[in-house]
Amino acid sequence: MNLSIVGKSINESATLMLNETAAVLRAKGEPVIHLGGGEPKSKAPQEAVAAAAELVKTGEVRYTPADGTPQLKKAIIRYTDEFYGRKVEAANVIASGGAKQSLMVALQAILDPKDEVVYPAPYWVSYPEMVTMTGAVPVPALPADESFYPRLQDIERHVTPKTKAVIVNSPSNPSGAMYPEQFIAEIVEFCEKRELFLIMDDIYHRLIFDGLRPISCYRFAGDLSEKSRLIVINGVSKQYAMTGFRIGWAVASRPVVRAMVNIQSHQTSGPSTLGQVAAAAALNGDQSSVESLRATLESNRNLMLDRLRGIQGVVANKPEGTFYCFVNFRAFDEDSTRLSRFLLEKARVVTVPGIEFGLDGYLRLSTCGSAQDITEGVNRIKWALDPNSPREIPAGDRKLVKDW
Ligand code: PMP
Repeated sequence: MNLSIVGKSINESATLMLNETAAVLRAKGEPVIHLGGGEPKSKAPQEAVAAAAELVKTGEVRYTPADGTPQLKKAIIRYTDEFYGRKVEAANVIASGGAKQSLMVALQAILDPKDEVVYPAPYWVSYPEMVTMTGAVPVPALPADESFYPRLQDIERHVTPKTKAVIVNSPSNPSGAMYPEQFIAEIVEFCEKRELFLIMDDIYHRLIFDGLRPISCYRFAGDLSEKSRLIVINGVSKQYAMTGFRIGWAVASRPVVRAMVNIQSHQTSGPSTLGQVAAAAALNGDQSSVESLRATLESNRNLMLDRLRGIQGVVANKPEGTFYCFVNFRAFDEDSTRLSRFLLEKARVVTVPGIEFGLDGYLRLSTCGSAQDITEGVNRIKWALDPNSPREIPAGDRKLVKDW
């Protein structure tokens, strides 16, 4: 069929595909442990649920302005002041159907076909596909030493006259690495000097550990006028465990936001009204659920690292944030897709192959689940990879038996 170039070239989201596979196996009664997920298991804040319920009960759920309700934008302005020390106006803010849509309309607003967009590898799976959808060219920048902490020269090396934008996601999905302040300072200055757009994907910025504090990129910006090319992305999905409400936002200079709003108005007319009401309530409400989630994730990270230490041959960095560990399994298999499939088939553990994030030989293991999931999941991985492990182990009310 003569589909478009974009229609033919965009791949299915690997992580969403894995969720479906896991759901199908679970429905068949298979004892699946899901270490592939990208959403917290905690509940949305009470205020958010109550606000959405109240609106839905009125039966009058209408369109809102394409850039979001004044109430939500006000909450985002306050958030930006609190966490970034930056006072912005409503015209600098757009709320969207998830951070994903904010990112997509930002890219559509700034990119022309054949423009290049540079981002550090390993990277979030959607960056290359989103850039491709605009007709621009994704340029992953993998540090020569495969460090999860890019240096400015790792990015600079990939910048050409065609480069239009850089995307930085810290702490990073998949590595959990939080880039040091110095790198953020350098990349902000570099992009300003080279007149490049800098998209800061800060979706995980409050989910950080070991006493670290969120970093505001604005501190290092020389130009905070309406000519600024800084675009900051954030949302409620991760920090408030509100993935299904689909609300994210961008803060940027007026011309960028205006272009994004125009595009978004024709795409979706604006984000879901119920989602916006809930997101505003979460942002304005009691913040203890964020701290409680953050603390759980820190403890889950510690548990995951502790368990992984029991598998000889794996190399695991210590993530400073997010809910992922990006673990080197090259001692067992260089092909992460094959290894991930093997672990799902034989150990019934869902992992995400590192190749999806631009680095083969690694698996992304999620710490979103319970402590029991983490312990059991890593135990099963160890069992499957260790040639000296017993022939069979219990798994739920079934048994896993070695047939290889
Ligand atoms: N950026 C990154 C790095 C993410 O991991 C995700 C979610 N997986 C998003 C953006 C999108 O989040 P949302 O649910 O708000 O669209």
